[in-house]
Amino acid sequence: MNRAPQQMPGAVFFVGAGPGSPDLITVRGRDLIARAGAILYAGSLVDEAATRWAPAGCVLRDSKDMTLEQMSEWLIEQSRQHATVVRLQTGDPALYGALIELVQPLDAAGVAIEVVPGVSSAMASAAAAVESLTLPEVTQTVIFTRVEGRTPMPAGESLVELARHRSTLCIFLSITLLHKVEAALQEAGWPSDAPMLVVHKASWPGHQRVLRGTVATIKSLCREAGIVSQAMVIASPTLGARQWPDLARSKLYDPSFTHRYRRASVPTESA
Ligand code: SAH
Repeated sequence: MNRAPQQMPGAVFFVGAGPGSPDLITVRGRDLIARAGAILYAGSLVDEAATRWAPAGCVLRDSKDMTLEQMSEWLIEQSRQHATVVRLQTGDPALYGALIELVQPLDAAGVAIEVVPGVSSAMASAAAAVESLTLPEVTQTVIFTRVEGRTPMPAGESLVELARHRSTLCIFLSITLLHKVEAALQEAGWPSDAPMLVVHKASWPGHQRVLRGTVATIKSLCREAGIVSQAMVIASPTLGARQWPDLARSKLYDPSFTHRYRRASVPTESA
């Protein structure tokens, strides 16, 4: 069918599919898939969410063998034929997802777009291991980063520099670069026995694996377990807190703390 672009203005929705388990997509994302005329999905991690909820007759295309130009052309073309076109991405589209590179050509073509957030694999990994990425008086900061591979790191963002903050580090795209992670953490002064966590295929029923080690041991543990892809690496002073006997408590729920919704029920301790 040869329609002019303005005749049937479809929109492209960039939907976060979540970390892998098909039921960790948002309700909004699932609803969009259920009425999509075409879906471009990012490889094997999200195909199940796409196929499980796509309507009969929906055009499904895996983007793993496509260049960025081919992807944007495909999305533009499909948006001329369907009211709802979905670009389905792992986790959240705002993290390591080439979002803006795809949005720009759609903007240039006058195609309306919208982004639907998703559960990032960083969050699914913390959940899998029952860990909190922030703890009072331990760290109140989380850094999402990666180790330098073929994509260079901007100035000031080497893992050594980031690790000096001693905050939580969620390290994406780096499972094959654990030697660099170990070297950077040690150079930044983390002790060799500082706890580390690797979660492979977080949230995937029957496939998820949680490995606990230390700065010194995590690389060999992963090698022995054969984990070479789809893994989140977390280094944090909060790891293992479930077993700590002397946890500092959150002020929000502290009986001596008054806030907008609750008055203190015991007097504030003076220091
Ligand atoms: N936008 C995605 C990240 C894409 S980059 C998100 O928000 O999660 C791909 C990297 O994400 C992988 O190299 C791995 O580090 C991580 N990743 C994606 N899915 C994962 C999963 N189910 N379990 C663990 N790590 C995962």
